[in-house]
Amino acid sequence: MFPATRLRRLRQHPILRDLVRETVLTPHDFILPMFVKPGSNLRKEIASMPGNYQLSVDRLLDEIAAARELGVKAFMLFGIPAAKDAIGSSAWDENGVVHQALIALKKAFPDILLITDECFCEYTDHGHCGPLCQVNGRTDVDNDATLPNLAKQCVSHARAGADVVAPSGMMDGMVGAIRAGLDAAGFTHIPIMSYAAKYASGFYGPFRDAAESPPQFGDRTTYQMDPANGAESLREVALDLEEGADIIMVKPALSYLDIIRRVKDRFGCPTAAYNVSGEFAMVKAAAQKGWIDERRVALEILTSIKRAGADMILTYHAADAARWLR
Ligand SMILES: [Zn+2]
Repeated sequence: MFPATRLRRLRQHPILRDLVRETVLTPHDFILPMFVKPGSNLRKEIASMPGNYQLSVDRLLDEIAAARELGVKAFMLFGIPAAKDAIGSSAWDENGVVHQALIALKKAFPDILLITDECFCEYTDHGHCGPLCQVNGRTDVDNDATLPNLAKQCVSHARAGADVVAPSGMMDGMVGAIRAGLDAAGFTHIPIMSYAAKYASGFYGPFRDAAESPPQFGDRTTYQMDPANGAESLREVALDLEEGADIIMVKPALSYLDIIRRVKDRFGCPTAAYNVSGEFAMVKAAAQKGWIDERRVALEILTSIKRAGADMILTYHAADAARWLR
């Protein structure tokens, strides 16, 4: 009790503050998402995500080399294909842009970790996360028809060199279907990072420019979660773990810190959080206006995500944060 107990005592000295710090960020916590597109010498900045680019494979190598120098060693690859169709078949084309990127990156940098996004919204001409069907007179994504395609996509990425596959489409049964597909193809050692609790969020806006993947009609509310729901995320995570997920993800991160904490407390499993494009863009925009200190706010946000229970953070600030933490 006060006055004997004074919590300010441990805040007196900077070294003492370092010693009692509960959460410490390191570059090992980060996964940097990258967008790869067919072509050569392409490095097109994404307007709403300064410092992030659509890259051809040759320029992707340069960009990853630079991030790797800063200590970022894990990368998530998103592909923007040359051709789109109704089912997204270019997603499992072994000459696809992600496959080419995997082969080139594995050769150039054997020491990095390559995670591949597994979904079809970048690959379908309608921008939804799988083939379409009619349900009660409205158009929706055909859940069960998407599953074998996901397995094909994951196997093709594993063949090209992916270290981890990360299905993001929120299809029921996706983890089980992918696990069975990978195992049957001899990839029992490839882990699945499941976007288990992915919300239908307004924070994805800038990403859709980056990945050229906005839905051409409707939205994703019939497959992604309602932002109002918390308990449901625990059911989603429980199912994905039962189906064989090795790492589960909560997405977005910042408005869902309570979900990260609940998932970590309940399951204790390796937990990823995706600090999404809109969260990044808000920090960038406010910093450009001089309203906040970008470095301080970005590191505070990343620390809060780790403090909430995330073991790893997908973030567009990864390279900057790694530099700041040096
Ligand atoms: Zn998708």
